[in-house]
Formats: sequence, C-alpha cells, structure tokens
Amino acid sequence: MELTDATATELLGKLASRACSAVELTRSFLDRIARTDSSVGAFLSIDERGALASAAAIDRRRAAGGPLGPLAGIPVAVKDVFCGRGVRSTCGSRMLADFHPPYDATLVARLRAADAILIGRTNMDEFAMGSSTENSAFHPTRNPWDIGRVPGGSSGGSAACLAARQAPLAIGTDTGGSIRQPAAFCGVIGLKPTYGRVSRHGLVAFASSLDQAGPMARTAEDTALLLGVIAGHDPSDSTSARVPVSGYRQALGEPLNGLRLGVVRGQWTEGVERAVASAIERAADLFRELGAELVDVDLPHHAYGIAAYYVIAPCEASSNLARYDGIHVGYRAAAAPRRGPGAAEDDPGAAGDADDSPLIDLYRRSRTEGFGLEVKRRVMLGTFALSAGYQDRYYVKALRVRRLIREDYDAAFQRVDLLIGPTTPTTAYRIGERSADPLAMYLGDLFTVGANLAGLPAISVPCGADGAGLPIGFQLHAPPFQEESLLRAAHQYQSATDWHSRGPELE
Ligand code: GLN
Repeated sequence: MELTDATATELLGKLASRACSAVELTRSFLDRIARTDSSVGAFLSIDERGALASAAAIDRRRAAGGPLGPLAGIPVAVKDVFCGRGVRSTCGSRMLADFHPPYDATLVARLRAADAILIGRTNMDEFAMGSSTENSAFHPTRNPWDIGRVPGGSSGGSAACLAARQAPLAIGTDTGGSIRQPAAFCGVIGLKPTYGRVSRHGLVAFASSLDQAGPMARTAEDTALLLGVIAGHDPSDSTSARVPVSGYRQALGEPLNGLRLGVVRGQWTEGVERAVASAIERAADLFRELGAELVDVDLPHHAYGIAAYYVIAPCEASSNLARYDGIHVGYRAAAAPRRGPGAAEDDPGAAGDADDSPLIDLYRRSRTEGFGLEVKRRVMLGTFALSAGYQDRYYVKALRVRRLIREDYDAAFQRVDLLIGPTTPTTAYRIGERSADPLAMYLGDLFTVGANLAGLPAISVPCGADGAGLPIGFQLHAPPFQEESLLRAAHQYQSATDWHSRGPELE
C-alpha cells in the first residue's frame, strides 16, 4: 500500500514506529499532488518548502525525544478562506488575490500547535458562495471520480484532495452545506460542527450567523482526530461556545444498541434520484442491524429552508462584503483617467452628484472588477432584501421561518437521538450543467441548509454509488454539541461497510 492511501491514524502509527519519517511522508503527498493536480485542480497554492521544513523539524524533535502534538507530521489541506500569517489567503476571489494576512486564524494556529504539516490551500467557490467550486476566480476543481463533473462546493478543493489521496485530512467551512455536499459528491466524510464549536476568528466571513468550520477526512476516526484539534472555546470569537470538548475518539467503539434513529422519510420522496434514495434506505437498514431503532419523524417546515437561507445568507453577505471597497482591504481598480479641465462645465451633474465622485467611482470599479458574478448576485439580493420597506417582508420573515425550523428539530430530538437522510438529492453533476441556472444550483442545498439555520451539527458519510460509480452520502443530524454521537454512528457504520476504502483511478 502506498503511504498516500493510508489514513491519518495509520500514518501516525507509522511515524511513531519509525516505519517512515515525516519528511518521507510529506514528500509522498507532494509527489502525489504533482502527479494528479493538473487534472483535479484541488489546490490554489502548495507550500512545498514550508511543508518540508516543518516535517524536518518534527523528525528532529522526534529523534531528540521532544514533545509532539497530536497531528505531528500529518499533512492537512486548508480551504483558502482562513487567514494565515504571511500566507496568501484568497477566498477564491480576485478581490483577495494578493492578500497576505498579518495574523493566523485560530484554527490555523491550532493546527500549527498540533504539529500538522500545512501542505497547501484548497480551491473554493468565491467567498464560499456556491455548490460546485465553479465560482472560483482562479480555476474550477474537478471531481476525481469523473473529471467531467463538479466536486461540489464550496469546499470542493478540500473534498477533491481527500478523494485524490493528495492529503489525508482537510478543513472546510459550511454556511449552507459546503462541507457536507462536496464530501458526498467526492465519497469522503465531512462534519459541520455545532455553531460556536470551532472558532471563526480569522475565517473570512460570508454569513456570520451560519458560518462554521469543520473537519473532512476519509474515516470517522480521522475526522474525530481533526475535530479534537480544532474544537474549543476561543476568547477571540464572541460566538464561540464555552462547552468542554469531548474526547471524540474515545466514544467511537461504543455499540449503537438502543440508539433511536429518526428517519425523515417524507423528506426524500420527491426530487431525489432513485439511486440516492435507495442507498439511504440501505444505510438506515444497516443501522437497524447495528442495534438502532428506526423511528419515523417529520420536519414540517423543512421545505422552507432554502427560501429562508437564500434570504438570510445574502443579507449577511451584503453587509460582510461591504468592507471590500478597494481602500481598506482588497483589490483596488487602477486610477480612473483624469477628466480634462472644463469637464465639470461639460457635464453639469459631475461636480455635485455624490454618485459620480472620484471616491464612489473607485468603489464602483474596484467592486465591479474584484467580485465575480455570483458574489454580485448575492450582494444585490441581500441589499435589496434589507432595504427600507422590504426588510419585514423578506429578512424578518426569513428569521421567523428559521425559528420554526429550529423548533421542528427540537421537537424531533425529543423523540430520537439522531436523524438520518440524504446529504444531496443527486450525485455530482457535469461541469457547466447548473452554472447558468442559479436556482437549480440552490435547490441542491435542500437537505443541508437546515443544520445551519438551526445551528446543529451534521455529518455526511459515504454509503454507496450510483450506476455510473459516483459516490452517494447519507447525512446525520444531532442535537447541539453531540458531535461525538455523529462520529460514533459514522464509525460503527464504517466498521460494517467498505465504501470509505474505495478510491478513484487517477493515474
Ligand atoms: N451552496 C450554498 C451557498 O451557495 C452553501 C455555501 C456554503 O455552505 N458556504 O450559499
């Protein structure tokens, strides 16, 4: 078996027993990236020199018997939406193409402190707006299972690099499904933690009440390992929770006897591909064989999730993205051609009209050139929905729906421990298939936005393939801060199946 096929847990074992060094291991992943990334396009930048230098430092420390962090020598790929000190952090946008933040996001600092090897930055939809990674300002990422198809998004680079064996662990962010949906499309695990579980300090904001960072990996065990490193209270993030972090790996082995698993059957009768629906049925049946009791539950307001999400997220985005004005931060358009003397007389409106001042002109041109189409669409939707006279009709109403959705989950969790359903209605679609039809793209988020609106943890786990061999994932939801139960259920499922050990042929 190649080193790049091993899980992070297996690699830690090899490092501890000196079967390989951190430098050898890092080199294997860098070689794999060099051989495969021209077709996949998972990465926006690769820090070969920095990665090898950290690996060498870890090897020296190990040889000297010094202390080592829990991820010592393990490469981790980080979505390009986190600030890294001196590291180009683009958010997939032209707006931040040359942004080298002066500080580390808390998540990045925690990975460094755990002795992870930060191997590179992964591609994403611009400012995390999208479901296909086609909205990156740099290049689209391709699905390693079929390079004619999208990897999902917006954390498509992170999901694709795991499927392509370019890194054993990756970080994504999830505002409406961006960890779980690409995980499902690429046949890997993606966990969106409870809102407040992982610090957002240094995570470039899209929709602050929904954004949450989380771990991605091929096994539940690796996902638990990575979550343990990034989770926990952070005084620099006022929304970070003061809830103790569980030992996510300790509970994995506990059997599922007596687990009450809610099946939201009504949710996946319509618009769900047959192969997806039957894979979820089979996963639920397997959980029953593993000792769970299946209980039918209803989430009556589920269907309104998309409408509420696509009001709330753009409203918050239009406010968060106001800072990119070409002056304080981000891309600045070139100076406008100077008006000739007498221009004001030729154009009587020019001098007095604030909209035509050089400052407004600079804002307008910087934002026009710096942002892509989807980001502009969101900013305009959000600005419209928040405008005087419309706020009650859209934003306030969406907040009411959000509350009803949260109450549906509260009621369901009175009766069951976890909920199971599909992560996505379909498997990965073709590149270009939905890019001209934003609504079709948005509807693919049907099953994922609920967890963000309600702030709940949810996980996507590979559980099958369609007729073309494309991966399918099931999704579990849990009550707040029960990431441990999600991981335990996922681990028990993986112990009884081998979907997670399949990989695409790339070379
Ligand atoms: N696809 C959703 C959107 O475009 C979710 C994105 C995300 O979770 N970052 O808004």
